[in-house]
Amino acid sequence: ARPVRLSVQIYPHGKGRKLMISRDITALEQAEAMRRDFVANVSHEIRTPLTVLAGFVETLQTLQLSTEEQTRYLGLMAQQAARMQSVVQGLLTLSRLEESPRPGMAEWVSVQHLLEQCADEGCALSQLLTRNQARQHTMIFPLPAPPEGMGEIAGVQAELQSALSNLISNAVRYTPASGSIEVSWHWQADGSAVFAVRDTGPGIDAVHIPRLTERFYRVDRSRSRETGGTGLGLAIVKHVLQRHDARLDIQSTLGQGSTFSVHFPANRVRPPTKAA
Ligand code: ADP
Repeated sequence: ARPVRLSVQIYPHGKGRKLMISRDITALEQAEAMRRDFVANVSHEIRTPLTVLAGFVETLQTLQLSTEEQTRYLGLMAQQAARMQSVVQGLLTLSRLEESPRPGMAEWVSVQHLLEQCADEGCALSQLLTRNQARQHTMIFPLPAPPEGMGEIAGVQAELQSALSNLISNAVRYTPASGSIEVSWHWQADGSAVFAVRDTGPGIDAVHIPRLTERFYRVDRSRSRETGGTGLGLAIVKHVLQRHDARLDIQSTLGQGSTFSVHFPANRVRPPTKAA
């Protein structure tokens, strides 16, 4: 949201001092419209699975179903409940990120450890999503790490892990099973570092790119939902990265794939110390 500009002017002359406060009403209205949109979105995201869930409960209560049918219905109900849980969990994560203080420079997180976790989670997700298909994604990680390690990032381990894993899980979820996903970690000449996830998925039309990190913004709602998406993933990524002074860059070509890159400034990263 654009910040609301509040200007205060004090006129010292004349009878008594006058205080004049003027506000940028447009910004205020914009913020209010965003708040309304957000509440409407949350209601929609929770009401939809709730309605479906209530429908299934009613069916179970009114129809004499066979045990197999009951089991099937219970499975579908569990899916809807899980969907609501993910939305609520995502919203709680966002509000916690907004409220907690910015991560300091006291804790250093191992890049190698982050990448190992990302590889485990990415491969597990690929197996889960492609278990009925002939092929799984080709996943390429810069692992095993060299003996001197891969350096460190100053910040909160759990937050960084969730942001980087989120980019990998998106690549896996949106890329067809025959596609490939390549994760890289590069040091730049100025001491900064870049984490990137490149996929051979459907790509994203340029008009959508600036809006992808908005809460609940999705290019293809049904595709997102099919793979368990909530539309909150990239909003969380953006928040975590902002808190770590890092920047997200999205490059994509429709029909060819996307690359999500995270740029960590030099003061947030330290390179590995050379092995003796
Ligand atoms: P979702 O839970 O829907 O995946 P995200 O916030 O993680 O929500 O992503 C927002 C949208 O960005 C997705 O719905 C999808 O349309 C698009 N998107 C994200 N990552 C990719 C990707 N790697 N390839 C294609 N589209 C993507």
